[in-house]
Amino acid sequence: MKKKEILRNIPSVDKILALFAGRDELRNYGLTRLTEASRKTLKNFRTQITNEKLTSAPTLDEISEQVIALIETQNEGSLKAVVNLTGTVLHTNLGRATLPLFVANELSGIASGNNNLEYELEEGSRGDRDSHVERLLTELTGAEAATVVNNNAAAVLLCLNTFASKKEVCVSRGELVEIGGSFRIPEIMEKSGSTLREVGTTNRTHLKDYASAVNERTGLIMKTHTSNYVIQGFTHEATHAELANLGKSRGIPLFADLGSGTLLNLEEFGLNHETTVQELISAGTDLVSFSGDKLLGGPQAGIIVGRTDLISQLKENPLKRALRVDKLTISALSGVLKLYRHPETLAENLPTMRFLTRTPDEIFKMAQEILPALLKTIAPKFKAQIIETKSQIGSGALPLDQLDSFALSIESADNSDKALREIAHKFRQLPVPIIGRIAGGRLLFDLRTLELPSSFLEPITELKSV
Ligand SMILES: *Cc1c(COP(=O)(O)O)cnc(C)c1O
Repeated sequence: MKKKEILRNIPSVDKILALFAGRDELRNYGLTRLTEASRKTLKNFRTQITNEKLTSAPTLDEISEQVIALIETQNEGSLKAVVNLTGTVLHTNLGRATLPLFVANELSGIASGNNNLEYELEEGSRGDRDSHVERLLTELTGAEAATVVNNNAAAVLLCLNTFASKKEVCVSRGELVEIGGSFRIPEIMEKSGSTLREVGTTNRTHLKDYASAVNERTGLIMKTHTSNYVIQGFTHEATHAELANLGKSRGIPLFADLGSGTLLNLEEFGLNHETTVQELISAGTDLVSFSGDKLLGGPQAGIIVGRTDLISQLKENPLKRALRVDKLTISALSGVLKLYRHPETLAENLPTMRFLTRTPDEIFKMAQEILPALLKTIAPKFKAQIIETKSQIGSGALPLDQLDSFALSIESADNSDKALREIAHKFRQLPVPIIGRIAGGRLLFDLRTLELPSSFLEPITELKSV
C-alpha cells in the first residue's frame, strides 16, 4: 500500500472519542483530555507512517491503547516510593525515616476529611494545634512545654529570632558546623537577625570562655550537636549543665540544637550512646530542638521542648505562624510519639529502630532468600554474591558508627564499569526503583533497610532483558 492510502485509512479524532463513550476512561479523564491525547496520538501515527516506520494503518484498539498510555505517562507523579538499599538508614535524599504502617493509615483518615486540628471538642472553642503533641512530648522528655515547626532548621531559626534578634549568641568555635543541604550555623544566625559571638577555639572551649563572652547584649548561649563530624584528640567542651548554670546566674537561656535527637538510651538497643533529649533537659538546658525524621523515626518536623515561659514566647513570634506544621505532620508525629510510651516495642514497631537493630544474621537470611532469583534475572552478563558490608545511621547521628550488615553484590561478568552503571540505572528505572550504591567496581544492595524479601523480589520481576 502507498503511504497516502495508509494515511487515508487513519480514523478521525471523533471516531476515537466515540470508542470511549460510556467507558471508565471518559469518567476518569474527561472529554477535553481524551480529545487532546487522541489528536497527539493520531499525529504520532501519521508521522511514523510518513517516515515509513509503520507500513499499515493502526487499528482502533491500538490507537485507543496509545491514547490511554499517553495520558497515564503524563499523569505519572514525579515523587514515588523507592526501595532504599544504599546502606544509609536515614538517607536525606531518599526521604529519611519511614513511618510505621499504622501511622500511615491514620494519616489517610486525617487527610481525607476534616479534623479538630485547632478545635476544643469539649468546649466547642478554638484550640491550639500543638496540643495534640505537647502532652506526649513533655511526658516523654521531662520538659515543661513543647512546640513543633516544619523542621529542625526552622526550629533553630525560630529560637534565635525569638531570643536573640539584634542580640548576640555565644557559640563555641568547635560547633560552627555545616549540616548537609546547606544548613550552616553562622548563616542561619545571620538570617535570624542575631549576631554570632564566637567562643573558645575549634578543639577546646571552656566554661570560662563563655563566662567572659557573655555580656549585656547576649540573648542566648547556644550548644550545637556537631552531627556529621567529630573533633578528636586534645579537646574540651563545656557541659550543658555548666552552661545552664552560667546562663541562670546571668539571666540568659541556654539553647541546644541537638540535631538528630533521640529519646532512647540507644545502648539498650545494642547501639552506641547518643545524648538524649531527656539528659539535656535534666541538665537544666532551657530549650532543646531536634528533628522529627532523624533518629526519632517520625515525619519531617522540628521539635522544641523546654521552659514554659520560653515556649510561650516562641508561640507568640509571628515567625511561628509562618513555620507551623500541618495536620498531616501532627497526626504522624503523635502516632510515632505514642509508640515511645512502650519503648521495648520500638525495635519491632518503629521502622527506623527496626532497621538499626537488625542483626547481621537476619540480614544474611534475607540475602540468601533473594540471591537465587537475582542471579537468574541478571545472568549471564552479571554475577551476584552475598558480601559483608557496613551500614551507617545517616543524618548526622553517630557519624563514626558503622553497623555490620550484608549486601547483595553485583559484578559485571566482563568487569565493565559501563555495564555496572547501566544495570544500576535499570534498577533505578523500575516502576518501584531500587537504589543501591556502587563501590569498588560492584553494585551493592545493603539489605539492612529492606522491609521484606518480597520488597526486592517483586520489583525485579520487571527487570527485563538485562
Ligand atoms: C540535621 C540537623 C539540623 C537540620 O535539621 P532538619 O530537620 O533537617 O531541618 C540542624 N542542626 C543539626 C545539629 C542537625 O544535625
